[in-house]
Amino acid sequence: MSAVLPIQGDEIISYNPATGAEVGRVAVTSPDDVAAAVAHARQAFQSWKKTSFKERADYIMRAREVILSEMDEIAHLISSESGKPFGEAISMELAPVLDLMQYFARNTEKLLRSAKIGIGLYALLGRSSKIVYHPLGVVGIIPAWNYPFSIPLGEAAMALMAGNTVVIKPSELTPMVGLKIGEIYEKAGLPDGCMQIVSGAGATGAALVEAAPDKIMFTGSVATGKKIAEAAAKNLTSCVFELGGKDPMIVFADANLELAAAAAVWGAFCNSGQSCSSVERLYVQEGAAEELTRKIIEKTRDLTQGTGDREDVSVGAMSSERQIKIVEDHVEDFRAAGAKIETGGRRNPNLEGIFYEPTVITGAHNDMRAMQEETFGPTLPIATFATEEEAIRLANDSEFGLTASVWTRDKAKGKRVAERIEAGSVCVNEVLYTHGIGQTPWGGFKNSGRGRTHGREGLMELVQPQHIHVNNIALLPDAWWMPYSANAVETFRQMARKFASGSLVKTTMLLPQLLKRIKELLRNSG
Ligand code: NAD
Repeated sequence: MSAVLPIQGDEIISYNPATGAEVGRVAVTSPDDVAAAVAHARQAFQSWKKTSFKERADYIMRAREVILSEMDEIAHLISSESGKPFGEAISMELAPVLDLMQYFARNTEKLLRSAKIGIGLYALLGRSSKIVYHPLGVVGIIPAWNYPFSIPLGEAAMALMAGNTVVIKPSELTPMVGLKIGEIYEKAGLPDGCMQIVSGAGATGAALVEAAPDKIMFTGSVATGKKIAEAAAKNLTSCVFELGGKDPMIVFADANLELAAAAAVWGAFCNSGQSCSSVERLYVQEGAAEELTRKIIEKTRDLTQGTGDREDVSVGAMSSERQIKIVEDHVEDFRAAGAKIETGGRRNPNLEGIFYEPTVITGAHNDMRAMQEETFGPTLPIATFATEEEAIRLANDSEFGLTASVWTRDKAKGKRVAERIEAGSVCVNEVLYTHGIGQTPWGGFKNSGRGRTHGREGLMELVQPQHIHVNNIALLPDAWWMPYSANAVETFRQMARKFASGSLVKTTMLLPQLLKRIKELLRNSG
């Protein structure tokens, strides 16, 4: 069961990783049909871009209603395709995306309102500037399997609100959830072509990039991100890359250790550790290491693991055989390098599906391979540090920089340390969940990505800004126009020294030379 590949011939067969049961079959979209979907989306864009924000918001709010009315059914589908607990599908996928949808439905108009730009001394010349935001056209979304509902559906809602049309290529491990997203928007009455799903694995994703949409929103591994960047370069298609993470949690000795321990357990083991922002490295200050570790081990041993349909299960199955093998490899690497496996460290012998026990590891060091590569599984390696400087150095010693967290009762220290961590989002006394705050930007430093999703910054990725500049007087030629002369060159010199200083006083001193130059231009124009 577990070794079965999802693509067989021209079909994707979706299996429940917890039970091996077939969840459904989806036809693979051919490259020609992917290109046709993009062409269709481009056509639909012509009328969708003219809709008002109010009309777009009505569709998004109707899609929300569809989700709310089918909440348990959708959560069970997510759980059965991904292995995550059904309750977690509600708390970590449905609830956050419902919030994102209402936020962008209600606020995109305000966020994209055209605005005057301050142009300094040019305003004195009677000029004014404003910025206007236009949709891009077709947005191609290529997500991973770990949050198969909230990530693509949320990105689609933002893209649609900004006036774009959308083509999604869901992960081959969660194709039924992908189709469900299409169905939700269809039930919301979205016009034909505004939101399409194409199904398949990497080749289908590559066909979507090849079809040259106006933007690619990619979530996945660094390796695939690089392939997409290369292919997208052919058409200069711009991309947002949401890639991997190896996220550190720093716990100072003055932290609330009970809370930090509970946060570490949730941050490392929710979604079986398959979150890009999972806690993958915990650094605890020496004096607190023993107590924190004891609390973490106790809490981990109390967790129930099992199939995602049970409400008392906290840790579900992993997504695939490929993923569990990486976890096994990393745990073996820790063992071989001299770290200690305190609990877990093996596949769950009592369960048949792809289950890895939540695993706490002590004695970890940054020079161990598994402290550098993304594990993406239920492991929590713990290392110690002595000083604030050392904690920052260890946290930043990574090719990744997606999220991080800092735990201390000293808020000033928390914020000070947070700003020195090289990561796109850093929490103080919180962990992992900020992807769920759609109002805030999401994205990585270093190899964790390029660009942003969510928040105003994420919305800006989905529009093209246009600058409108008006000369409100338009009676005289500009001093820098042709023909040039010695007088012109002297004017340019003074402009460089005085006008370009930004100082009104200095610019006033330029006026006699400016007048001389304008007179010259007027004389020349007869
Ligand atoms: P992946 O890179 O294997 O696949 C991601 C998507 O890309 C899939 O839909 C896949 O079919 C598609 N794809 C594969 N090859 C392609 C190609 N050549 N051209 C176009 N599309 C192609 O990643 P995965 O295993 O699905 O996801 C796990 C990774 O995603 C982890 O590294 C994780 O950290 C990352 N992730 C990041 C975020 C974030 O917000 N930064 C969120 C979730 C997951």
